[in-house]
Amino acid sequence: MKSFKQIFTEAENKITGIAAAPGIVISKVYLFTKEKIKINDGEITDIDEAISNFNEALVKSKKELNKIFAIAKEKMEATRAAIFEAQVMILDDPILIENIINRIKSEKRQPEYIVNDEISKYQDLMRLSHESYMKERAQDIEDIKNRIIRNLQKRRWKSKITNDLIVVSDSLTPADTILLSRCNVKGFVTDHGGVTSHAAIISRSLNIPAVVGTHNATTTIKDGDNIIVDGFHGYILVNPTEEQIIFFRKKLIHLIELQKGLEEFKDKPAMTNDGHEIQLMANVDVTGEVDVVISSGAKGVGLYRTEQILEELGEFPDELEQTTIYSRLSSRIYPDDIIIRAFDIGGDKVKFLDFEEPNPFLGLRGIRILLENKVIFKTQIKAVLKASKDKNVQFMLPMVSTIGEIQRSKELIEECKKELKHDKIPFDKNMKVGIMIEVPAAAVMAKEFAMEVDFLSIGTNDLIQYLMAVDRGNDFVSDLYQEFSPAVVRTISHIVNEANKAGKTVSLCGEMAGDTLAIPLLVGLGLNSLSLSPSTIPYAKRIISKFSFVKAKELSDDCLCCSTETEIQQKIEHFFKINNITRTRNII
Ligand code: PEP
Ligand code: MG
Repeated sequence: MKSFKQIFTEAENKITGIAAAPGIVISKVYLFTKEKIKINDGEITDIDEAISNFNEALVKSKKELNKIFAIAKEKMEATRAAIFEAQVMILDDPILIENIINRIKSEKRQPEYIVNDEISKYQDLMRLSHESYMKERAQDIEDIKNRIIRNLQKRRWKSKITNDLIVVSDSLTPADTILLSRCNVKGFVTDHGGVTSHAAIISRSLNIPAVVGTHNATTTIKDGDNIIVDGFHGYILVNPTEEQIIFFRKKLIHLIELQKGLEEFKDKPAMTNDGHEIQLMANVDVTGEVDVVISSGAKGVGLYRTEQILEELGEFPDELEQTTIYSRLSSRIYPDDIIIRAFDIGGDKVKFLDFEEPNPFLGLRGIRILLENKVIFKTQIKAVLKASKDKNVQFMLPMVSTIGEIQRSKELIEECKKELKHDKIPFDKNMKVGIMIEVPAAAVMAKEFAMEVDFLSIGTNDLIQYLMAVDRGNDFVSDLYQEFSPAVVRTISHIVNEANKAGKTVSLCGEMAGDTLAIPLLVGLGLNSLSLSPSTIPYAKRIISKFSFVKAKELSDDCLCCSTETEIQQKIEHFFKINNITRTRNII
């Protein structure tokens, strides 16, 4: 019998990419290749005719995009569909149109040459940006450029394909993704693009599994090949063996099995079978995720990663823009609470500095950057305060490692409150302020830190990284990134106990909360509040309903006496077995 590693991880027919939209599919491939556009750069004799052709192509392109926009509005949330509205607006940009028309007149060259040259200039500028968001938007503009050129050449583009296929392509524009999805596409695979590419965002909105950034899928996979796409882990298996198909079919059946009966948990509180309630809140990464949060049955938002706004917008939004974003979100979540985390910039996240740090994870990150850039920090604090007037907003500081950082932040919050009061702008005077515990120094000093704030939230993603000295994103040391390490378990226990001594609430919002295998241990350690990915919440509720708090406490007491990760893991697995809970880790 071959191991999982031999069947799958080490398989020769495996292509690795980025997990962009969750789910597993097995189906045949439609290799979506676009004809390379040939640009005619010849001279023209009739300027009026060329300008009229250009205007006609603009009208046609606008009509096409409006149609796509209408389909998008039907299929997905308005904020997502707005991508296409933005594209229509570019087609209306008077400066761009005027530049193109003036150049047609002065250079007397084919409009398609001038359109290509003019729009490519914008794209080059965007591609030079350090931000992945701007690079992705340059790709979207490619779609507009090609659309106008295609309409100038009076050619049609194929967007109807046989139903039920997996589309494999070099890249996909948002419009391709929307149009192809009408043919019941089973999955998307692209050579280019990251998780913030619109094709990825749209796939998630439409619930179509996707793997992006594979580099070589289109050269390795042929039209009609059978492939397995694992959008949970970012893998593709090309023409899978019988063994691989059986393995994935089992995974699929397991997934379907796990989804059965979940609905009944949606509107119920998360409660152990001896009546101990756990507050399950949702982590929000992308502003548009709020619908998913509401439908998941979450009790509020335990972590809103505001730095993602910078990824989405490519720049710092001003105070009004931020106020609008935070107010909209908090009113959708009302009467439940939302914890807005201050921009956690630096490290592996949004790049802020224009120089390379030798060790970014230990450099200017989170609160350290904010305290050095008070204008940015105060702008965000004021926007959060303005959004707090209904009293369901809390504010959280990331990457805190000293009490001084908390005190300086609180001084700035007070300054902002004074300024708002002076301007007679309403806000919640008692808005709660908390900190993330992500750094070992903060964990050790949890009681003293807790006394300075209203709540603590344990960020295990970073806490494990700094405690174990393992880069959370480095494959070479991933076996040392152990959430069940005794050091991690004892540290969490210490933080919870110290927060209790200070009389402050404590939650956990790292990925560990979403690892369903960790839930009984965390509950036993005394965590009454967890914040996790909304899609995991119903699974977590079901697991919590299957054990008692008393037994979970016994489990955690046992685990606190262990000296290896393996011992702890075995104890947890045994707990799942004797309580007859389906053994799940990260759902699948
Ligand atoms: C964490 O570190 O656990 C956390 C929730 O923050 P992030 O993953 O955004 O760094
Ligand atoms: Mg963190």
